[in-house]
Amino acid sequence: MVSDISNPSLYIVFAIFFIAIVFRYFLVAGIFYGYFFVLNSGKFSTRRLSRRKLRRGQLKKEILWSVKSSVIFALAGSLTYWLWENGYTAIYLDPSRYGLWYLPVSLLLALLLHETYYYWVHRWMHQPGIFRKVHKVHHDSLSPTPWTAFSFHPWESVIEALILPLILLILPMNIYVLGFYLLLMTFSSVINHLNVEIFPEALRNSWAGKQLINATHHHHHHEEFSTNYGLYFTFWDRWMNTESRNFRKRFEKIKVQQKESEAIKSIFHRNSEDPEAQVLGIVIPYHRLLQPRTCQDPVDDKKRNE
Ligand SMILES: [Zn+2]
Ligand SMILES: [Zn+2]
Repeated sequence: MVSDISNPSLYIVFAIFFIAIVFRYFLVAGIFYGYFFVLNSGKFSTRRLSRRKLRRGQLKKEILWSVKSSVIFALAGSLTYWLWENGYTAIYLDPSRYGLWYLPVSLLLALLLHETYYYWVHRWMHQPGIFRKVHKVHHDSLSPTPWTAFSFHPWESVIEALILPLILLILPMNIYVLGFYLLLMTFSSVINHLNVEIFPEALRNSWAGKQLINATHHHHHHEEFSTNYGLYFTFWDRWMNTESRNFRKRFEKIKVQQKESEAIKSIFHRNSEDPEAQVLGIVIPYHRLLQPRTCQDPVDDKKRNE
């Protein structure tokens, strides 16, 4: 029997989804922000991707937009629940129903469908006219932070939220895999907006690492606007020739900056133990040597205001 949408239990379902989504956002973004920007901000200074200062009130705006997005995502969750309750989705409860091998396969298929939808919709959102109305809020964060993860205009949130109920109408997915997928989405978005490259060099240079989007990849989207549209994987950007040419070079630069930083540290430690060097003023305060370099703004202002 089809349940009535005026059923009070649906409002409770919406409230549960909203609280869970907001909690998930604050927990994951808060952990990454606390670790990389509060507790260890100096330690990760050489891995910072954008050297721009945050805009006035940026974090507050990002959090407010993200809470608004959470309302839309909770509505999409409630819609999915309603579809499931009435037997319209392919969600299933018993993990062994299609075999255990199908669990990771269904996750991969969902990620690929989501990737394809997002890549093309994202390119569409960069069309002049659409950009200003739908996608500009997200790009107001020129230097992204973990709090940028859900910072979208409500129209963009609607567009982004629709894909999951659509996937679940056609793709059989176990309820636990779905829960993992929702968590993965949040972790992926927070890490891609972290503005700090956290993946080790060996992983980044491996075949698997090259297929995955990371903070450096998405940083170039926020910096260049017309490159790196992908969400989880790099293949659409490579196939459509929209991958940033500066992206791979930037990885090398991170490596060089790390080496420079280590060299500076060793000079400092040597000099700090040498009294003669100290008298001659050779010791350069370590914090001054590691001050961020100025970075030219590569973004075309016209493009930014489209
Ligand atoms: Zn964009
Ligand atoms: Zn972004």
